[in-house]
Amino acid sequence: MRQSSLFLPTLREVPSEAEIASHQLMLRAGFIRQLVSGVYSYLPLGYRVLRKVTQIVREEMDRSGAQEISMPAIQPAELWQETGRWEAYGPELMRLKDRHDRSFVLGPTHEEVVTSIARDGINSYKKLPVNLYQIQTKYRDEVRPRFGVIRSREFIMKDAYSFDTTREGLDRSYQAMYDAYTRIFTRCGMDFRAVDADAGAIGGKGTHEFMALSDIGEDTIAYCSSCNYAANLEKAEVVYQGQPSEEAAAETERIHTPGVKTIQQLAEFLAVPAENTVKSLLFKLDQQYVLALIRGDHELNDVKLKNMFDANVISMASEQEVKDILGSPVGFVGPIGLEGKKVTVVADHAVKDMVNAVTGAGEVDYHLKNVTPGKDFSVQQYGDLRNIKEGDPCPQCGEEIRFARGIEVGHVFKLGTRYSEKMKATFLDEQGKEKPMIMGCYGIGISRTVAAVVEQNHDENGIIWPRSIAPFEIHLIAVNVKNEDQLKLAESLYETLLAAGYEVLYDDRPERAGVKFKDADLVGLPLRITVGAKAAEGVVECKVRKTGESEELSTDQLLDYLKATLSKL
Ligand code: ATP
Ligand code: MG
Repeated sequence: MRQSSLFLPTLREVPSEAEIASHQLMLRAGFIRQLVSGVYSYLPLGYRVLRKVTQIVREEMDRSGAQEISMPAIQPAELWQETGRWEAYGPELMRLKDRHDRSFVLGPTHEEVVTSIARDGINSYKKLPVNLYQIQTKYRDEVRPRFGVIRSREFIMKDAYSFDTTREGLDRSYQAMYDAYTRIFTRCGMDFRAVDADAGAIGGKGTHEFMALSDIGEDTIAYCSSCNYAANLEKAEVVYQGQPSEEAAAETERIHTPGVKTIQQLAEFLAVPAENTVKSLLFKLDQQYVLALIRGDHELNDVKLKNMFDANVISMASEQEVKDILGSPVGFVGPIGLEGKKVTVVADHAVKDMVNAVTGAGEVDYHLKNVTPGKDFSVQQYGDLRNIKEGDPCPQCGEEIRFARGIEVGHVFKLGTRYSEKMKATFLDEQGKEKPMIMGCYGIGISRTVAAVVEQNHDENGIIWPRSIAPFEIHLIAVNVKNEDQLKLAESLYETLLAAGYEVLYDDRPERAGVKFKDADLVGLPLRITVGAKAAEGVVECKVRKTGESEELSTDQLLDYLKATLSKL
């Protein structure tokens, strides 16, 4: 492609709405443009990248045995009412009406549509398993669209759905997707981890999120410094080590603590470490109230609490509920004197080891000292209820846990029969018995993947594309197109490189050298060939964008050099 005719509107200034590097660079380098909040156009270079990622995804999905289809973005409300998600999905669902006042949604995902297709088209075990996928535009009215195409309201997703006759079949379909995702993100040049995530009611190894490691990521990943263990913060298991205190339990004391509200204030006021204090938090889990106790220096993990009770909905109790249920003011709640109250008391394992702890006294401006579980209050159930911390032991090998931030780029999930039961997507098994199909769903944010790769691969001058998804492989630059030797050599190299099968962006513009080099760094193609002062001798400069390494080569060495160098980028 000749750059003189390429539509490439670059920006000199950093756009003020862009907070992160990938967003700034994709705007500045003319890859994307915002139409309205969270809705973007892809310009020629951006679209080439998108197509390359799409192609990699398509190849690996096909290789895994999945079959590509295309489902509509417009979906009737009735389908969403069948699964209950018309209400449950909430305001993120883009709803619209046609001229007859019929309700529709713009699909944020396609479980309903694909399940209706399977229910119509599959009736026997003989037609299973099957995995259907598509690469298509999705709509979600995100509360806070941000970071450019990382969290947008219209975006491109690859979504796949597997249908099996047995749990073991689902495990195989899931593993095939897990392996395909690993190949896809590796091929895209991404630094990623597949992390164990919370699967809610399904439990077990029911879901993994593929995370691009990046400081701007919204999720915290706990990973092992030694083995391959990685999990979401909400999922990462804390191994209970059991280190009971040797101290003798003392007599409980009521202490006046005026104005003391937080654990930190309490620890300072009483001059005790935060780990000697207990936080008591009241939650509503479905219809029941639960008081969760956790060591003052630990963080409660509400997903773990929810799973302990197999609950569907968890919420923090309101001030009024705390008063009504415990008879205690917020901020001074404690586990003592709750006999006869309609509340279940549970605690994190670490609380079991505490002796002479500090807790709320259940009345304004008072706390209790020398409180010991077992002696002063009882706990119905102990469990793992806290977030893992850096330095805690890995649940797999015992080495130290560390934290990293991640951008979720893909998600594999065992759905089971959640949709097939509600929508009556059944098949007849070998005994002629009717059974619901066992499903899995698997998503990749294609547009988010592009931005995540930029987030991981850039410097202060611009983007650094991995070759596999770069818009072009080579940036050929004629430094001065008015110089006849330079122009002639550049033109002939352009033809040679195209004939050799390379994707070349040829900067043939009558611009100053400085402008051309700046633009080349910004756009970030993996390899640059500059035809300049030594053109008459048939010598050009080749520079690797990633490392900055450059060398002068005569044109007859060029093709060998390209073959060797590009294969490493
Ligand atoms: P998130 O927690 O980031 O909102 P999600 O759990 O809602 O993601 P899924 O429903 O699992 O996402 O969708 C599959 C994939 O689609 C995600 O892994 C992500 O890569 C991508 N994705 C989801 N929401 C968006 C969005 N608003 N903009 C761009 N990509 C998105
Ligand atoms: Mg979401």
